[in-house]
Amino acid sequence: MRYDKRAGYGPKCPRYPFTITLAKRPFMTEAALSHVFDYPPQRIKREVDFETVIIGAGLSGIGAAIRLIREGLGDFVILEKGIDAGGTWQDNTYPGLTVDIPSLSYSFSFEQNPFWSSLYAPGPEMKAYVDHCVTKYGVRPHMRYNMEVADATYDEQRNVWVTRTKSGATFTSRYLVSATGFLTIPKLPVIEGIEKFKGKVMHTGRWDHSYDLTGKRVGFIGTGATGIQAVPEIADKVKSIDVYQRTAIWLLPKKEMPFSPRWQAAFAKVPGLQRLARLVVIFFTDIIMINLLVFNKYFGFVGKKLERICVNHIRNQVKDPATQEALIPTYDFGCKRPSFTSKFYPVFNRENASLVTNPIDRITENAIVTKDGTVREIDTLICATGFEVFQKGSVPTYKLVGKNGLDISDFWEENRYQAFEGSTVPNFPNFFMMFGPYSVCTASWFGMIDTQSKHLVRCLKAAKKRHANYIEIKKSANDANFQKVQSRTKLTIFKAGNCATSNSYYFDRHGDSPTIRPTLGFVHWLTSRFFSMNNYIFDSK
Ligand code: NAP
Repeated sequence: MRYDKRAGYGPKCPRYPFTITLAKRPFMTEAALSHVFDYPPQRIKREVDFETVIIGAGLSGIGAAIRLIREGLGDFVILEKGIDAGGTWQDNTYPGLTVDIPSLSYSFSFEQNPFWSSLYAPGPEMKAYVDHCVTKYGVRPHMRYNMEVADATYDEQRNVWVTRTKSGATFTSRYLVSATGFLTIPKLPVIEGIEKFKGKVMHTGRWDHSYDLTGKRVGFIGTGATGIQAVPEIADKVKSIDVYQRTAIWLLPKKEMPFSPRWQAAFAKVPGLQRLARLVVIFFTDIIMINLLVFNKYFGFVGKKLERICVNHIRNQVKDPATQEALIPTYDFGCKRPSFTSKFYPVFNRENASLVTNPIDRITENAIVTKDGTVREIDTLICATGFEVFQKGSVPTYKLVGKNGLDISDFWEENRYQAFEGSTVPNFPNFFMMFGPYSVCTASWFGMIDTQSKHLVRCLKAAKKRHANYIEIKKSANDANFQKVQSRTKLTIFKAGNCATSNSYYFDRHGDSPTIRPTLGFVHWLTSRFFSMNNYIFDSK
């Protein structure tokens, strides 16, 4: 079936001027399906509201949904806490928001956008792309907005998941897919007196566009991947900006690469060109970044080379020698999420900007006070202080209770973060994670979406084939997987590198690094396609 694609992509790309053929199964909307088939199948007779509940309409929830639709498993609902789809790209709208890895790989393999305005697409373009995918692949009718999930409990008697929202709605399903991401819950800094501050406080993850920063004295806390994008965008506008850096970040120079109309036309018209460009990007990021992280023991020299580039970048861009020194990290490249920019460092050559590295002692009604006793008065406090990552209650963002009343957070607190192939956990039957422990290993989040959604549909299809409605990962399979992960971790930068001073969210409280899967992206791709179903228990209840 062929589709004329008319949906807009963004201000510069009003139309998509050609037709696309879906590689596998064409989508149909729920309404269309109900005219043709008994859809949703026998819902009235069944004991569940939906075959599958997906929690979260960010990129991973949308990716899971598209895969389910394309594989003919379209009886599902997506519960989204916000008012629209997009997750990170819906919540984050701070000035300067840009995809900091090439958009050629930061997109679905089956839905490439020839009209990216540049190699690193701005946030609004990314959001427009998400909206386009949601509409084109028929995901929108499955969405239920303003549905913040409070808890999900496995009912052993009925073999169903019961998901409850904070507003009191209840959804029952055979399968549950968690897609709440990992940069979901904004983390405000714990600083004495912060609640007494009388000016405006904003977290970058919840930017208030109605607030005018013009002429304000700003205290800006945080120099992670977000802070380094936002600071240069507001420095011009404000009266003064003090940037509080606790741990320096490794920053590679970023060459802005706008795609001219010629490039866009070439991507749109030359068969395979964009696919080839995407493969090249993935190949190099996998080879350079992932080798550096997961095989650091052997490829540590790559990191040293990158560190030299970063240090030169600082020295070339910052005039004051003391500021140069303060901006150079003291841990190995890769221990903490690095980023790209050529706009951040020059801010510190401005008259109205300063870098503060003395630790914050307290916040008063109108100022930030550092340990050395300096008082810096401010009108506005901006916190680019990140998100709760692999802390109790952050993955997943709701209470999840499996067999025998086991809470997944308690299980992980006692046994460390673990999940078979980053997807499934013993005692949590029919439950699948998009982002689970050790599930990300490609340089693009979309790589993880592909592997995790493949894992999900392979399991659901295997259950159908066996006339089963109960799937649980065997404890022995999960234990073996966890052991393998732990032995591979020894080669990673997190164990082999010098990360002591990195203060990195890659580490959890156990000292493990469950954010990164210690394999190459390509290996994860292969494993998701070929892992043995014998690792699972299938049953009919
Ligand atoms: P982050 O990397 O966790 O950085 C938070 C920053 O706030 C760090 O510099 C941290 O210092 C600082 N901080 C936190 N609490 C503090 C306190 N009490 N006092 C002083 N400083 C404090 O968060 P982020 O910058 O929002 O980035 C999160 C992730 O978002 C990135 O790693 C990346 O994966 C993603 N991101 C992606 C893109 C993209 O385009 N793809 C763009 C932006 C962000 P310490 O380092 O000392 O903890």
